[in-house]
This record gives sequence, C-alpha cells and structure tokens, in this order.
Amino acid sequence: MDLVNDNSCNWINNLDKRFNIKTLDQDKTCDWLIVGAGYTGLSAARKLSELHPNQKIIIVDAQLAGEGASGRNSGYLVDTTLNDGFSSNKELLNYKKKTDIYKLGIDAVKKFIKEYHVDCDWNESGKYFASSNQKDLKILENFSKTLLKLNFEHNILEKDDLCKRLGTNFYNLALYTKGGILLHPGKLVRAMIDSLSDNVELLENTQLDEWSKNNDTIICKFNNHKIITKKVIFCTNGFLNPLGIKKNYNFPLTLTASMTRTLTDREYKSIGEPKEWGVLPVRPMGATIRMTKDKRILIRNTAEVHSPFKMSKTELDKRSLNQKLGIKKRFPSLADDIIESSWSGVVSRTRNSSQIFDKIDNNVFVAGCYNGSGIGVGTLFGEQIAIKASNQNSDEINIIESRSKPTWLPPQPFLNIGIKTRLIFERFRSRSDV
Ligand SMILES: Cc1cc2nc3c(=O)[nH]c(=O)nc-3n(C[C@H](O)[C@H](O)[C@H](O)COP(=O)(O)OP(=O)(O)OC[C@H]3O[C@@H](n4cnc5c(N)ncnc54)[C@H](O)[C@@H]3O)c2cc1C
Repeated sequence: MDLVNDNSCNWINNLDKRFNIKTLDQDKTCDWLIVGAGYTGLSAARKLSELHPNQKIIIVDAQLAGEGASGRNSGYLVDTTLNDGFSSNKELLNYKKKTDIYKLGIDAVKKFIKEYHVDCDWNESGKYFASSNQKDLKILENFSKTLLKLNFEHNILEKDDLCKRLGTNFYNLALYTKGGILLHPGKLVRAMIDSLSDNVELLENTQLDEWSKNNDTIICKFNNHKIITKKVIFCTNGFLNPLGIKKNYNFPLTLTASMTRTLTDREYKSIGEPKEWGVLPVRPMGATIRMTKDKRILIRNTAEVHSPFKMSKTELDKRSLNQKLGIKKRFPSLADDIIESSWSGVVSRTRNSSQIFDKIDNNVFVAGCYNGSGIGVGTLFGEQIAIKASNQNSDEINIIESRSKPTWLPPQPFLNIGIKTRLIFERFRSRSDV
C-alpha cells in the first residue's frame, strides 16, 4: 500500500510548517486506537478525550495528519447536493434524511470553530449548481421542486446575472442555494490537529499494515512495532479496503485539482471583481470551480479509478493541463501560466451514496465514505462514532442510523469494469462543462 501523497497542494503548503512530528518507535498499549487523522479521526479523538479524560488514546496516520483528502479538498461545506428530483415520497424522505445529516455536519463544524476560535475563512456565501448547457434547465427545475418541498431557500439564475456574480459568461444557467459554506479545508483540519488534548497521542508517518483481534485485545501491526488496544476506530476513508474493512461496500476514487496564483489587481478587475463564489457542476463529471477569498481560482474536474493511489508527476501534469483548459474556457483573458499548484486526493464512494457508520465487531468501529461531503459529515461522524463506541447514544446517532445503509458492490474485477464504464458515460454527458 503506497499512501504518501504528492506535496503539491497549496491549501497545505500555504500553512505554517509543523514541527515535533512523532512516529511510532516502540511497542505501545492503549485504551483507544484511532486509525486515520483526517476530519473523521481527529473529531473522534477530540470527542473521546472529552468522554474519557483519564484513558489513553492514540491516533495514527500513515502520512502527516490532515494531509489526505481532508487537507486537499475543495472546501464546500454543503447543505444540499444535486439530484434529479423525486417523484415518490419515499425518495423525498431519503433525500431529506441526507440533508438532515448535512445540517448536523454543518452544526458540528460550526460548534468546533466557535469553541476553538478557528479562522478557516468561513464564508456563508451559498453555492451555485451551474451549467453551460441550456438542456440542463429540466434537471435544475426538478431539483428546485425538491428544494421547495423541503424549504431550502434557492433561485434559478440566468446568464447575465451569473456573469456579473462569477466574472465569466461561460455559464448559461444555475440554481443558487443560499445555504452552504465555503472554507479553507487545510486551516480547518490544522485546527483539529492543534486542538487535540493532552491525553491524545498523535503518531504520524505510522501506517497500519495488519490488525487482528484476540478476544478483548486488538493487535495492530506497523512497520517495526505494534500497538495493543482495547478498542479501535477505523477512519481511513478511501483506504478501508486494504485493511479488509467493509470491502464490498465502498471503493476509492482519485480526484485531481489545481489552484491558480492570486489574480493581480488588473486581472481581477478584468473579470469584474466578483466576490468569493463556489460552483458545483450539474452533471457529476463536470468541473467544481471556485473563486477563493484571496482571489485564486480552484478547479477540480477529474474523478477516476487510479492505482496505485499516489499519482506520478507525469500523470498529474496531464490532469493539470486539462484544468488549465477548464480555466481558460471560463476566463479566456487570464494568462496561460496561471496555475501554481496541482494535486490529487482519494475519496471514498458507496454505491447508493450512503455513508459508513458501523460497529463491525466487538470493540471495532468504522466511520467514513462521504463522497463529496466529508467536511461536515466527517466531522459529525467522527464525533458520533466516538459516542457510539463508548456505548452511549445521541439524537444524532438516531438520525444517522435511520439513513439507508450502503448497498453491496460486486467483487473485482467486475467492480472496476462497472465503475470505469459509468465514469466514461458520465464524462461524455458532462463534456461541455469539464
Ligand atoms: C480533490 C477533492 C475535493 C473534495 N471536495 C470536497 C468538498 O468540497 N467538500 C467536502 O465536503 N468534501 C470534499 N471532498 C471529500 C473530503 O475531503 C473527504 O470526504 C474527507 O476529507 C474525508 O475525511 P476523512 O477523515 O474520513 O478521510 P481522509 O481525510 O482521507 O483521512 C484518512 C486518513 O487515513 C490515513 N490512512 C489511510 N490508511 C492508513 C493506514 N493503513 N494506517 C494509518 N493511516 C492511514 C490517510 O493517510 C489519511 O490521512 C473532496 C476530496 C478531494 C480529494
């Protein structure tokens, strides 16, 4: 398993460098082991330390904490995600459950940043589901009906209005939702690392290779050492399969993104000085594109089955070129060499877009697989899996557990063939908006 990410993500590189990184250098025992230090694992650690201030909690990560998907995503904390509209009440009810979870996720992040005075460039700017293709109006109208039934404030916008707001005349229509927050993902996850309390030991560059359970003891093997723990929570998101967890219920996808340098005053004026905004595509394989608080443009327009997980520089350069074209299409007046940083990251998907939140054996728990909504839902699920693993209950757990469970996936190689075929089809349908 090769987990080490590229080190070319500006969200992370623009943060202060971290020191005092500790690695597992001897055998250890603990009450709780958390595997994976992204939003989920760090939130689980924070909650466990509140619930058990006198117990020993260890959290490990194969790379530097927060430098997986959590530090390299697009920074949309979502209240809603697009669907094609629903005809039956059961489907509407399922969508409502999904948005109830998103809301709890937003509340969990809000509570965290308030309590720890976190500056993560929080902006309640709402978001646009935008398209250049007039034919997508039908999809947006159906989505609007669903949002109306559930009282989400929104409106449909046309080209002229969008051009003023976004600084590009690329889009012909969009559905704007007032809910939804834009933030700096790296600052958020860094704050979660910095606020870990004293009874949590963070060990980085410490990859779990194998684990086994012997009655009430869980033995976790790393490179040269082991950790023996009473309880374990797996929060490795796109890397659950190599650990043999929920194997037929989730699969990883690799995404790539690029970010420009800060636009010069002249460039910014030339596109009409728009306020910070975030666009999500109407079709799944279209581009996510965002104007950041510090006037950079971020674009994410690939999702693929990719193995090994770390992407080579040559492969990343190809994706970056594609992203340069995506920016050029929308902002033809901007310079060609404007991209400053490109990176890849791994997300975890389930077949029916439902998340994993489970006890898989006595004292063995797992939370993960949020598709594109892990900022809020990961924070929420991390906290709530810690509560569940402590044999306690909460209203949030009741809501989470009433969602539909992830559905079964076929084994390899059929799974990858199916996913690749679907991605080709979706890419074709989204081709105008990449
Ligand atoms: C390019 C991109 C854009 C995205 N955009 C958005 C967005 O706008 N909004 C949104 O909500 N979500 C977005 N996502 C998804 C979001 O980032 C994830 O859902 C979220 O970060 C999941 O958090 P996590 O803590 O569960 O997992 P991760 O952040 O993936 O953390 C898992 C950690 O486990 C570690 N690990 C894995 N295996 C092992 C092992 N064997 N031993 C030890 N450690 C291990 C990894 O190193 C990693 O740090 C995006 C993701 C990407 C890649």
